Amino acid sequence: MDGDTLRLVIFISVFLIMLILELFIPRHPIVDSKPRRLGINLGLTGLNTLLARLVFGAAAVGAAKIAGSRGWGLLNVLDWPSEMELFIGVVFLDFAIYVQHVIVHKVPFFWLFHVVHHSDLDLDVSSGLRFHPIEILGSMLYKIAIVYLLGPSPLTVLVFEVILNVMALFSHSNITLPGKIDHLCRKIIVTPDMHRIHHSVEVRETNSNYGFNLSVWDRLLGTYTQEALKEQPEIVIGLDTIRHPDEVTFKNLLLMPLRNRAQEYSQPSHLN
Ligand SMILES: [Zn+2]
Ligand SMILES: [Zn+2]
Repeated sequence: MDGDTLRLVIFISVFLIMLILELFIPRHPIVDSKPRRLGINLGLTGLNTLLARLVFGAAAVGAAKIAGSRGWGLLNVLDWPSEMELFIGVVFLDFAIYVQHVIVHKVPFFWLFHVVHHSDLDLDVSSGLRFHPIEILGSMLYKIAIVYLLGPSPLTVLVFEVILNVMALFSHSNITLPGKIDHLCRKIIVTPDMHRIHHSVEVRETNSNYGFNLSVWDRLLGTYTQEALKEQPEIVIGLDTIRHPDEVTFKNLLLMPLRNRAQEYSQPSHLN
């Protein structure tokens, strides 16, 4: 089985497991139609996958192969054991993704695209896939640049991408974890309750908990929120400027960054 097939099999399996768990142990009440949102979010995923393939091919892994053959990047210069390079590579790539997430919140131009992710009125496994195509292309370019600078092996990039995909599905899922388990997991990784706070309408909460895999970056850099103002099931998800399902149709999501109203979605307090 090649890397792409493995990634697809893991992705589909985790997606289905989370979807089933959401039926049995939901954490948060639903306000929008689940089938409708699934259609929109999976539609975006299909479009993004197609675009990414057309424009970049196997982008980040390919970049790691090029960097390796030309000796580019820190890890290709250093002669460390491959296990250590894999560990450091995965941890550093995770930090880079954390930094990227902070940037798309703080820079108004990037926020115009990232707003699509935050416009979801509910949070479930499919929300982890809901990104504007331009944001996906931008993050691929960013990842390629990081890979050239860092020089991780293709295996490191593949491992990181699989972890990132699985964790994005897990942390967006609408599932209940027992309090103690959530507490314990959160010491290391981002849990659904932790990421739900990031999707709260409260700006202070939206601008916190940026991590995707490891919770350590938020803790270290002062962007961690342990508890939302409201209890988890009462957290209002989304943005206070977009509250109606009619505003977040597939077409509206694609046009969102271009519309004049887009300025409304940009929260000035993001520049704090
Ligand atoms: Zn965000
Ligand atoms: Zn999210």
